[in-house]
Amino acid sequence: MNYQNSLVFALEQDTHDELRDFRSRFLIPQHHGADAIYLCGNSLGLQPVSAAKHITDQLSNWQNLAVEGWFQGDDPWLDYHKQLLPSISRIVGAQENEVAVMNSLTVNLHLLMVSFYKPNSKRFKIIMEGGAFPSDQYAMESQVRFHGFDPKEAIIELFPREGELTLRTEDIIQKINEHAHELALVLFGGINYYTGQLFDMEAIADAAHQASAYAGFDLAHASGNVPLKLHDWGADFACWCSYKYMNSGPGGISGIFVHEKHSTNNDLDRFAGWWGYREDKRFLMAPGFDAAKGAAGWQVSTSPILLMALFKASMVIFDDTGGIDTLRAKSMALTGYMEFLINEINKERGEDVFKIITPANPRERGCQLSVVCRQNAKAVFKYLADNGVIGDWREPDVIRLSPVPLYNTFQDVYRAAQQLAAATNNLQYGLL
Ligand SMILES: *Cc1c(COP(=O)(O)O)cnc(C)c1O
Repeated sequence: MNYQNSLVFALEQDTHDELRDFRSRFLIPQHHGADAIYLCGNSLGLQPVSAAKHITDQLSNWQNLAVEGWFQGDDPWLDYHKQLLPSISRIVGAQENEVAVMNSLTVNLHLLMVSFYKPNSKRFKIIMEGGAFPSDQYAMESQVRFHGFDPKEAIIELFPREGELTLRTEDIIQKINEHAHELALVLFGGINYYTGQLFDMEAIADAAHQASAYAGFDLAHASGNVPLKLHDWGADFACWCSYKYMNSGPGGISGIFVHEKHSTNNDLDRFAGWWGYREDKRFLMAPGFDAAKGAAGWQVSTSPILLMALFKASMVIFDDTGGIDTLRAKSMALTGYMEFLINEINKERGEDVFKIITPANPRERGCQLSVVCRQNAKAVFKYLADNGVIGDWREPDVIRLSPVPLYNTFQDVYRAAQQLAAATNNLQYGLL
């Protein structure tokens, strides 16, 4: 696309945007009486207008039907989670029996590690991206210790080459090969939360399998953001949260993927609960755990219906867009525009005041650009916030900006870049 640094250009893109009407299905935060420029969907997606109704419908069912709500009404709670499976399976590229909606992300990661991290004295190592999201690091460390190993020995973190900002796929594969004889698991984020790098999950899963290790993915920043094909890629397991790009509200419900190839493997250990019991016999309450087939067999507890109702509000919207490929096309254009405008600022200033550390190749990133502010980073971030541009801050000097195709516009991106330019101008004249 031939981008232009003008409001007219941005407005024209918005007019031709086939997804433009979706913005009105979200509640946009306000700043001094006008829509804020919200570029923080990587952290917390916006509230669907329909979220409140989805909640009050279930509160009404509870009020009117009480315990009968499990079996009666338009959406009996007993099967409520099943309505979510078609939508989420499309988003992550899975069969419906390979996904379950349950718990929260780190909890699910632990539950899946119970099944897929089975270290022995020969094979006990885990390869993961260096600088993974802290919760994932803590989860891995504690799992390794739980099995009696030393995290320093067992966890191999991969970092970019000297002078480079992101990982090369060839280096990831080479490391996996190098440790093939002692590797139990390769665990990667789909997209790294800090750099915004989208990894080649298919290549990573292949390499892991050639090393006879399992391949698992944390899709917190990838699900609802980029197209995924977990089934075809042969990933063994994955989990994600839904409150980032899937707009299910703070602490919203998470989900898991377990590949079909493991669906009837009862040798896999798991931490069981009654919701994972085979459904036809669950209420016989018989002793001895008999797992449901597929990902459903990893469910533990009663469905949290209110969280699921929020997630459903968002899934209805995703379904209406016609799918992740439509979203992705706009997303690439929007993020590309942000990148273009930031580079324009650098050109005008004759120096790189901003350095984008996210890969420049659109196929190696999602919505997010991580921007290093070379000077007075905190002050620049504060200037943005004071002027209604909501991004987020990562120590020591990174601002993450994520235009989201469901509710952001080219105008948002243009105006955000204007504020960035204004911040650098103020900086230049010592006003910041
Ligand atoms: C957001 C995020 C989390 C958060 O986990 P919770 O259990 O929902 O608090 C974990 N891992 C990654 C990679 C994330 O991006």
